[in-house]
This record gives sequence, structure tokens and C-alpha cells, in this order.
Amino acid sequence: MRRVATCHSCGKSMEYAPCFERRALPEDARCNVLSGWLTVSQWKGIGYIDQYDFCSIDCLLTWVKAQLPQIPETFLDAFRDGPTQKETTGE
Ligand SMILES: [Zn+2]
Repeated sequence: MRRVATCHSCGKSMEYAPCFERRALPEDARCNVLSGWLTVSQWKGIGYIDQYDFCSIDCLLTWVKAQLPQIPETFLDAFRDGPTQKETTGE
């Protein structure tokens, strides 16, 4: 009975054996197979937690950036079209 952990960003997947209490840890236990992976828990209410696995910091960052609201281009334009610096002349 094996399970698969999948990177939520790039789709890379790893098979692991689930761990059970009062038994020796299998060689391919989740904690061993997913060494170096990152898991984010999102609390969504009573008894409801979403978990996302990521194979690397890069994949985690890619996912985090995708969660951020997009900054409207018009907002950025306000900075680009700001007043230009005037050259100062010697006194
Ligand atoms: Zn990944």
C-alpha cells in the first residue's frame, strides 16, 4: 500500500510507504523519501486543512507568487509617468 506525494508546483511525484504507529519505520517512509521537500498547511476551518507539497524552495516560491494578487498595470504606470527630475542649475 503505497502513496504518492506530488509537488504542487512542478508536478514531480515521489512514492512513499505510509507510516503506522508501533511499527518500525519503513525505508521509504514519507519523512525519509520527502527529505528536503516543503509542506505548507493551509487552515481552512474546523477539521479542514489543505496540505501542499513542494519539492524545492523554488517550487514553493513559484506557487506563493501565483497566490499573490496581480498588481494592475495602470497602478504601475502611475509611477512610470511620474514627474521627471528637473536639472538643477548652478547658482
Ligand atoms: Zn517541484
